[in-house]
Amino acid sequence: MSTPYDAIIIGGGHNGLVAACYLAKAGKRVLVLERYHTVGGAAITEEIHPGFRVSVASYSMSLMRPEIIEELRLADYGFEVYAKSPSYFMPFPDGQHLFLYAGDRERSKREIAKFSQRDAEAYDAWEDFWDRCCDIIEPTLMQPPISLAELAQRFEDAGCVDDWRRLMLLSTSDLLGEFFESEYVKAAMAPQSLISTMGGPATPGTPYVYLMHAIGRAIHGRRGVWGYVKGGMGTVTRTLAAAARDLGVEIRTSVEVGEVLVEQGAATGVVLTSGETIRGRAVLSNADPKRTFLKLTPAGALPEEFRRRIERNYRIGGTVYKLNLALEELPRYLAAPPDVPPEVISRGTVDIAPTLGYLERAWDDFKRGEPSREPFIEIFSQSPTDPTLAPPGKHVLSCFCQYFPYEP
Ligand SMILES: Cc1cc2nc3c(=O)[nH]c(=O)nc-3n(C[C@H](O)[C@H](O)[C@H](O)COP(=O)(O)OP(=O)(O)OC[C@H]3O[C@@H](n4cnc5c(N)ncnc54)[C@H](O)[C@@H]3O)c2cc1C
Repeated sequence: MSTPYDAIIIGGGHNGLVAACYLAKAGKRVLVLERYHTVGGAAITEEIHPGFRVSVASYSMSLMRPEIIEELRLADYGFEVYAKSPSYFMPFPDGQHLFLYAGDRERSKREIAKFSQRDAEAYDAWEDFWDRCCDIIEPTLMQPPISLAELAQRFEDAGCVDDWRRLMLLSTSDLLGEFFESEYVKAAMAPQSLISTMGGPATPGTPYVYLMHAIGRAIHGRRGVWGYVKGGMGTVTRTLAAAARDLGVEIRTSVEVGEVLVEQGAATGVVLTSGETIRGRAVLSNADPKRTFLKLTPAGALPEEFRRRIERNYRIGGTVYKLNLALEELPRYLAAPPDVPPEVISRGTVDIAPTLGYLERAWDDFKRGEPSREPFIEIFSQSPTDPTLAPPGKHVLSCFCQYFPYEP
């Protein structure tokens, strides 16, 4: 029998690949097994029509830790990011619009002042609130997770108990009401609290989702700025795979793990659906917890209570579908200023989220198990800033549509 690997990783998504790189850097012999024909998972770029390439699922970059980008020297393999500017364009049904510029408070405030001078002034307090929360939470991101009680203690130690209340207990609508008066401004801020989330603006706890949009630093270390990866999200996993291979990681694609081998209470390898057995001293899973613990791991190998909790307490239903399009030309929004060309409007994310009430109604449909009749839509197009993704003069565009019930 061949020597077992030190670690076998089920799945070649970005998390599996990052784990593979760090294990290999630590001198371990690592094998990654990916069922799809390419690594990448939800972070891939694919051709959807001849000459039109798109980030199929994940599309916008901020949360990848700069430490990882640097330590794995991803730039040497072609990893390159740039900020979206404007960050957001919000068209409203009455013909008005609002641009937001992450990282440029003064410019965003000038936009907000079109709707409310008071809200423009409040925008500083809003941004300061997120900065304080990020200052406390960001240092925990590269550590083993701390408990909720410990996190609450850190807010208390920093004299920020009221920020903790806002972040964890309020709904997005209530939080926005503590800062802003204009319904337009509130609607412009709300989407980043809701995206991908099982909740509407009136759902307590949703502000924490906004925090995830304020804390990232992947765009040249600038906190809260979102951008694109040149070549689409596939570049993230392509460069990670290249770094992994250079570190000695073996990557096999088009191979599906059917079972984790467990002997005397420890994982000792995997069996592929082809019947091949591969031995390893440790098995890491990049697949979701339900698949990992309920489908791939033999039932008797885990405590019954643990399995029950994964089955019942761990929810992985989906709320969105994504529509990827190849276009002759970019859309023209009736609410866009006439002197700003569509190529500039579409550089940022366009949110169809005209009021908090609209968003809540979209969520209400989902709660009844129905697709939203008037969905929240986040529209984005990378081709205006990355011409490698579409033929000259043409474009790719995606719509991230929410709320649509999906149970895997
Ligand atoms: C539509 C959509 C849009 C998103 N947009 C963004 C965004 O803009 N920005 C952002 O930061 N995040 C975004 N996300 C979230 C982000 O994509 C995910 O959090 C991230 O991709 C998860 O990475 P992962 O490596 O943990 O898992 P995955 O990417 O899911 O990778 C898991 C891998 O395991 C493989 N696998 C599973 N089972 C087996 C098996 N039995 N054998 C072999 N291989 C197996 C799968 O094929 C897959 O390649 C989005 C997610 C979705 C769905």
